[in-house]
Amino acid sequence: MRQLIWLRSDLRVHDNTALCAAMAEGPTIALYLLSPGQWQQHDDAPCKVDFWLRNLAALQVELQRLNVPLLIRHAEHWRDAPEVLADVCRTHTIRCVHVNEEYGLNETRRDREVASRLDDLGVGFRGHLDQLLFQPGSMLTRSGGYFQVFSQFRKVCYQRLHAALPALQWLPAAQAPLSVASDAVPASVQGFTPPADSLRQLWPAGEDAALERLTLFAEERLEAYTQQRDIPALPGTSQLSPYLAAGVLSPRQCLHAVLRANCGEFDGGQPGAVSWINELLWREFYTHILVGYPRVSRHRAFRLETEALPWRHAPDDLAAWQEGRTGFPLIDAAMRQLLTTGWMHNRLRMVVAMFLTKNLLIDWREGERFFMRHLIDGDLAANNGGWQWSASTGTDAAPYFRIFNPISQSQKFDPEGRFIRHWLPELVHLDNRAIHDPSALSGLFGAVDYPPPLVDLRRSRERALAAFQNLPSRV
Ligand code: FAD
Repeated sequence: MRQLIWLRSDLRVHDNTALCAAMAEGPTIALYLLSPGQWQQHDDAPCKVDFWLRNLAALQVELQRLNVPLLIRHAEHWRDAPEVLADVCRTHTIRCVHVNEEYGLNETRRDREVASRLDDLGVGFRGHLDQLLFQPGSMLTRSGGYFQVFSQFRKVCYQRLHAALPALQWLPAAQAPLSVASDAVPASVQGFTPPADSLRQLWPAGEDAALERLTLFAEERLEAYTQQRDIPALPGTSQLSPYLAAGVLSPRQCLHAVLRANCGEFDGGQPGAVSWINELLWREFYTHILVGYPRVSRHRAFRLETEALPWRHAPDDLAAWQEGRTGFPLIDAAMRQLLTTGWMHNRLRMVVAMFLTKNLLIDWREGERFFMRHLIDGDLAANNGGWQWSASTGTDAAPYFRIFNPISQSQKFDPEGRFIRHWLPELVHLDNRAIHDPSALSGLFGAVDYPPPLVDLRRSRERALAAFQNLPSRV
């Protein structure tokens, strides 16, 4: 009885739960849907769509080794998915469709509608846990709710991990060849201009590239992760987020690689191992939040009282932030890193997000959308979680009065201005003091070809504090 694996954010053959389940049950065909209309609606970045397509092409080669043909179909919007799936199932006499679960509101609705349409045809639809270590809903507080505090969530995660480590799936053996031809993977999709080659080269496609990056990180960088993870000028973090977001790597593979490098230990060994696993658990936490609190998928504030914040409509300030022209070097360098590479260092994501939402008092949704439109690792749960954390509107968020100062963050995390000099060559000649705040130079050393600060940090901080303090019920 033929099976279908419908690939989405799980672009790999290794440790792929749905692929293993399908191939264990019968001859398997793979399917991928091109949904440009839906992707536009979700603000998916052109560089991310390009990354998906490049990984899909690499995956096709891996699937060929398993004799699994890959069909590519067009479903402009996900509302078209039920008919497209029904058609594929009829044409290829499919008995059951296997998917690795996705958790956004639209993704859940799409899967429900597809399952119901297939049910009419007598075709099964089976979801598998794959994108996460733990099934959302399986980790609840004593009162039965989803955890809202990360440290409590993490504690339960560790208890579960100590009791049993999620096992890796075996790579299935090749099946007998099927008389079904694979479709060509398109090099691009209309509406999504492919990025520059220089960006593509930073993010090579395919499982081999992802596993190589994971191994390099686990074996060579993990030890220094705790000391280096906040220094944007160093390659101190794994830069695996695009691979995890597209499912070219699984969180289980990451966990196993780190434990291997740490002699099988969670506690003890290299301190970097625990810190890094914590980051994987933040990823887990925000996805559980997405499921437990669906309003997050609708771009509503987690803390509803913060919906009353008097966000400023300031298109010029927003454009200056987006284009890296705020006059604060660390912010501008970070935004240029995003625009050029499709990625931004975590410390800087927090700094630029706080600057937008606190110093400029611009709605976090503007920043969330802009990030999503440019990030190669854009992920609804992590992006929304990060923005709401920074804006103090989210679960377990930064307290509203702890506002990062972009100049002191710069002095602390880029003390010699190496990161700034890399992205802002116009400031390359400034010394290690002036590089963090060129406006302090004015008059003394002549003009620097760099914009003046967009806001006064002290006054804008006070404005943000007042906005939060005046909320009907404080955050
Ligand atoms: P590492 O430090 O090596 O961490 C390993 C992995 O853990 C990452 O690849 C990622 O999958 C996960 N992770 C790390 N930190 C976080 C976190 N705070 N929340 C959730 N998962 C985390 N991450 C995304 O994957 N996609 C996003 O769209 C995204 N948007 C963000 C927006 C803001 C405003 C903020 C503050 C953070 C955002 N993050 C997002 C989280 C984090 O910045 C990135 O995951 C991280 O920078 C990726 O780099 P890395 O792979 O080198 O991370």
